[in-house]
Amino acid sequence: MKFTKRSNNHLTAHLYEHLFFIHLDTLLQAKGYFPIIDYSVDAYTDDGEITFEIDAYRDIHIHNFLSQAADELLSNNELLAIACTQLESESHHELLIANSDELIASLKEINTLLWNTDVKAEVNTRNIAKGEKIKIIELELIIDYPNVSQALKPLYRLVAGVTMNTFVSNIADTYGGFVASSAFETTADKSLLGRVHLCERVQVSEIQDLFNESVEDLTTKGGYSRLLTDLQNIDSMKLAPSNERAEADTGVSMDDTKWAEISNEQNLQISLNALKLQVAYEDISTNE
Ligand SMILES: [Zn+2]
Repeated sequence: MKFTKRSNNHLTAHLYEHLFFIHLDTLLQAKGYFPIIDYSVDAYTDDGEITFEIDAYRDIHIHNFLSQAADELLSNNELLAIACTQLESESHHELLIANSDELIASLKEINTLLWNTDVKAEVNTRNIAKGEKIKIIELELIIDYPNVSQALKPLYRLVAGVTMNTFVSNIADTYGGFVASSAFETTADKSLLGRVHLCERVQVSEIQDLFNESVEDLTTKGGYSRLLTDLQNIDSMKLAPSNERAEADTGVSMDDTKWAEISNEQNLQISLNALKLQVAYEDISTNE
């Protein structure tokens, strides 16, 4: 499903997109749904036009979530500050806000617009501007394949990938980071790689804690179990793992039957026990 809104000011629209995304993602995760496993949201802003592409793999009432996100959108200044930081992390430039009350009024204008109408929100374009370049840290998150048997690698890689996806979105929503990688990006030696751009260096211990919390959430809220069930029931598979990518990354050729064979509770536990995160930082501000 595709949802669009338009505004006369690109930066305000882009900020609205990030703020709305944080709310939507937080609401979905609070209900125990996880990206890749239960839904996918892709959001972008192009010349003042905001687009959300949303796919639900479960019985999720997307319209309810959209209206709840809109209702709560401007009730939380902390999330607005995080959305502003996300824009800075993404653009590598400071975000200048002339008057935050007026900016909130502009965001309200966009918020009250219905999705998919031709009406454009007219906002005050002087409230927000792009400032100087700022220092950006790239957080590199690596999960490799230690102590996992060859046959189990495709399942391990998938479990690691969905974990990485939830984890990087949690970093973005907590520290105002910008996720600069896809869910299944790999390093030269095929380890799984997550990349997040940050305005400030976050302590390794905090990152590790957030990783452990992501794994815990996926476990206790049934994310991994739903993934397993889908992989076991080929006919009702919601998430089709890419067999080509699995083979390229693990050297194991896969088909639906093989996924069903290796996807059981015991192998999931082995995979979860093997999950180890490595954290590295790089100052990328001078690389542009
Ligand atoms: Zn953006």
